[in-house]
Amino acid sequence: MKFTAHNFIKEGKSIHCTTCKQTWSSYPKTDCPGVPVIEYDSKAATLLTLHQLEKAHLHPVDVETPDAAYRTRHHPYFQPLYDQTKALPWAEDDLAAEQQAIDEKHRRQEENRMKYTCRICGEYKAYPAGYGMRDRVCAECQRHAVAWNEQIALSRKLAQPDTVIVNVVGDFEGWPFNTVSITGYSVLDLLSGELLRHTEQVTPDDRDYLVELLSRNQGYTIRMQYGAIQFVEKAWNVFIIADKKRDVVVHDLVKECPGEHGLPKSVASHEAFSLIDLCAQFGIQTDEQAPDIERLRALLLHIAQLQPVHFFPEA
Ligand SMILES: [Zn+2]
Ligand SMILES: [Zn+2]
Repeated sequence: MKFTAHNFIKEGKSIHCTTCKQTWSSYPKTDCPGVPVIEYDSKAATLLTLHQLEKAHLHPVDVETPDAAYRTRHHPYFQPLYDQTKALPWAEDDLAAEQQAIDEKHRRQEENRMKYTCRICGEYKAYPAGYGMRDRVCAECQRHAVAWNEQIALSRKLAQPDTVIVNVVGDFEGWPFNTVSITGYSVLDLLSGELLRHTEQVTPDDRDYLVELLSRNQGYTIRMQYGAIQFVEKAWNVFIIADKKRDVVVHDLVKECPGEHGLPKSVASHEAFSLIDLCAQFGIQTDEQAPDIERLRALLLHIAQLQPVHFFPEA
């Protein structure tokens, strides 16, 4: 738009410009936009902005000489309008260039969609969920795989001679910082499945046995707790609780179970936890009458036999 000097005429007390059709009460300091200034809301339907014109596949005859203008809040305070009926249709080249730009945009969208669609779970992960994707595997699937492999490694580590599963029955309110009272317990050898001890009425003799068992250096002791998904190292703290200050390391035994399409899914996503359900999830048949300690044994030995998941070629 070319700005010029106004063509002033006096009309009574007001000043009027015959070019831009604006009226003032005193001489303005602004320049003349050179075309009639109209209200956008009451403009003729054929007057279009440059953007609207291009969208209709039309070019103005001369972009520097519009047919009208409307006021805007920011510099240069006028937007040009062009008469659609005088505009020229786009040339073949322009149409082809636009089509090419549209195709290119679609191609990039498609490329982006491919790049951020997880090849494992098949979900499209737009940013920020797509953050952390690697080789088209989403961060969530990577996390599940890591947890899955960790629990296989842990089960293999535990599946060795001298590892026992201990299930104690009693009052564990406030464990490990408060005194617990044990009424009964079972001890099962993990590899052989031999029931080493079972009693429902503990005696001082049992206490000595448990302390000895849990203080030994070889083998692991798995204490069933919280529905048996946790493995407590140094579990003897449970029985020697006097100073209440020993460190207890608690590992999650089973964090992941097989989900849909053979993908691991978080055990925590289950509404209610039960060993029976968990075994079923892994496809393990267990005797309905079997005690949970045997079910846990079957589950651990099963997991130890599973294959780790590898999404990426070994570095
Ligand atoms: Zn003017
Ligand atoms: Zn995924």
